[in-house]
Amino acid sequence: AKTEERNTFRFYTPMMHADARKRLLLGADLRQALARDEFYLVYQPSIELRSGRVVAVEALLRWRHPTRGELLPDEFIPLAESLGLIRRIDSWTMQNVREQIRRWDLARLPPLRVAMNVSASTFGHPSFVDDVKQAVQTNGLPAKQLLIEITESAILRLGEDTERTMHALHALGIGVAIDDFGTGYSSLAYLKLSAVDYFKIDRSFVSGLPGEGNDVAIVEAMLAIAKSLGIGTIAEGIETKAQHDFLLRAGCGEGQGYLYARPLAASEIERMLLTPNAR
Ligand code: C2E
Ligand code: CA
Ligand code: CA
Ligand code: CA
Repeated sequence: AKTEERNTFRFYTPMMHADARKRLLLGADLRQALARDEFYLVYQPSIELRSGRVVAVEALLRWRHPTRGELLPDEFIPLAESLGLIRRIDSWTMQNVREQIRRWDLARLPPLRVAMNVSASTFGHPSFVDDVKQAVQTNGLPAKQLLIEITESAILRLGEDTERTMHALHALGIGVAIDDFGTGYSSLAYLKLSAVDYFKIDRSFVSGLPGEGNDVAIVEAMLAIAKSLGIGTIAEGIETKAQHDFLLRAGCGEGQGYLYARPLAASEIERMLLTPNAR
């Protein structure tokens, strides 16, 4: 047992060092990424299930790292949060979403709802509502076209102020979606949902449709709650026709997923919507 322990120890130490070193280096790069203009957004269409029409897109962040290539949010958002960089990144995202909405408008695209994700520390910051208000009022961001997505676990973490922030955004005409709905447990119990516009049903429930009895029951219950509260529903991570068919029949409003489209460059969204019969 003793040699085993020693072997284990010898095996793990360099790994841990390598890991911490990598994080440190990545953190240093992350501090430069905004100034070096290395972020960009891709947009995943959201389809109205009844009609098959693209009615919205979700902006998703990407980092073009100078040596490591394209990095996905899961590889750097948690790091950005721990380094205190996330508010600046989320604000960059909002500015770019605003500019993209304007460009699509100039290109005569039908007005799309554009969703953006914000982290808990951004959403919970005392100046968040004012920052958004400024983007809407002074910079001409069309509030009606913007949807802010906040995860259910972030809502739980932030507590009571969340509701006030949601109402303030709602009053500005901005939509609010609860992202990863169903994964955070029990927030429904204390959260009044009058300022919530959409539930985004998490991929972890969608993936089991239509075969998994538990997922079927949970998704049907979510759709029933949403319906009775007048809240819209968007299912994420739809990959199969069978999932699509189930959700359509169960009355879900919209869907996102690889079945319809992967996250795309803004120009590809434009082509998709301006080319007849493209969808
Ligand atoms: P999310 O909001 O739950 O976004 C959905 C994720 O599922 C995206 O991953 C999307 O590319 C992926 N996805 C979409 N359709 C499918 C599918 O059919 N199958 C599978 N397997 N995956 C699918 P992505 O782009 O890697 O984003 C991951 C998370 O990072 C997002 O989860 C969101 O919470 C966060 N994020 C993205 N952009 C931003 C941002 O600008 N700011 C902040 N704070 N967070 C962001
Ligand atoms: Ca989201
Ligand atoms: Ca989500
Ligand atoms: Ca999710």
